[in-house]
Amino acid sequence: MDRILKDSWGRTIDYLRISVTDRCNLRCMYCMPERENPFPDGSFPEFLDSRELLTAKEWLIFARAAALAGIRKIRLTGGEPLTRPDLPELVRGMAALPQIGQVVITTNAVGLARKLPALQAAGLAGVNVSLDSMDRDVYRRIAGRDGLDEALAGVRACLERGIPVKINCVPVEGINDSQWIPLAKLAREWPVQVRFIEMMPIGGGREFPPVKSSRILQRLEQAFGPVCADEHCCNDNSQEQQSPKGPAQIFRLPGFCGTIGFISAVNCGLCSSCNRIRVTAEGKLKLCLHHPAGGDVRAQIRMGKTPEELSRWLCEMVREKPRDGVHTDESRPMWKIGG
Ligand code: SAM
Ligand code: SF4
Repeated sequence: MDRILKDSWGRTIDYLRISVTDRCNLRCMYCMPERENPFPDGSFPEFLDSRELLTAKEWLIFARAAALAGIRKIRLTGGEPLTRPDLPELVRGMAALPQIGQVVITTNAVGLARKLPALQAAGLAGVNVSLDSMDRDVYRRIAGRDGLDEALAGVRACLERGIPVKINCVPVEGINDSQWIPLAKLAREWPVQVRFIEMMPIGGGREFPPVKSSRILQRLEQAFGPVCADEHCCNDNSQEQQSPKGPAQIFRLPGFCGTIGFISAVNCGLCSSCNRIRVTAEGKLKLCLHHPAGGDVRAQIRMGKTPEELSRWLCEMVREKPRDGVHTDESRPMWKIGG
């Protein structure tokens, strides 16, 4: 019988987000800024030694353990997951696990169009594309490099292949405010969800104040007409699993074939229905985005534990999941944790 993974607050944990690498080919100003002293403590982004990253074989052992424990959906993120040449192997191995309903990725989509056939053949069920601008100069200013055409090619390739796609934008006042309307227009033209993700005060994000969703909604209403909260659409307009537990507030606009979403990971008020755990690129289990509680997955695997033993360890660790992350702090940047 399939197990259900519960924490000590009665929440069912069925969603695992894995950071498969800390490397990235972009340098987003709020994540991994390309400057000499990007973080307040003066530290500089340093990637892990490749031996510190888990191998595909190790990730697949852990995925099997997680599936045995009760995980049903896996998101591969980073850093940039497409920089891992063995990403199709990871997707294939995880999608083949009978308990896992979906394997999806979060990506900047640079190089995605070319890699998508192999990923789709491996069983990839959905893609979240990070895209902060439709204007080349603004894109380059935010991401440090020009990946706009490639990102859009990636989105088109997903649509052509029938892979559900969502577009994530982190609004930054004075940097990409001119782009909120052009980005929202993608949901008018395409059956995609365009989501505005509130800036979190971690990594390079500490330097930028979050933009209130009401401000963006007001701009959208001025441009497109009245918005309507979508209570039937649970965070998703796609074939990807409908999850009433997700953190997005969803809206419809007149004449749009897609939807608009707003996500606040800080004080989202949804801790009571949180269903997720994460593992960082160096293999640290993170039971809450904002809380340091966790364990060492990599050490457990490298001790030679079997998937069954690891699964029991995971069940025990999940009992330590904090009730909420409101009063605690995360000092590591998103590219280390896995956004
Ligand atoms: N490289 C991939 C990408 O950009 O989609 C995956 C990793 S990235 C860390 C995942 C998500 O985290 C992206 O959508 C990015 O915009 C978001 N992110 C990074 N730093 C953030 C911050 N300080 N606040 C809010 N979102 C952040
Ligand atoms: Fe790279 Fe994604 Fe961070 Fe941008 S947000 S620097 S693409 S990991």
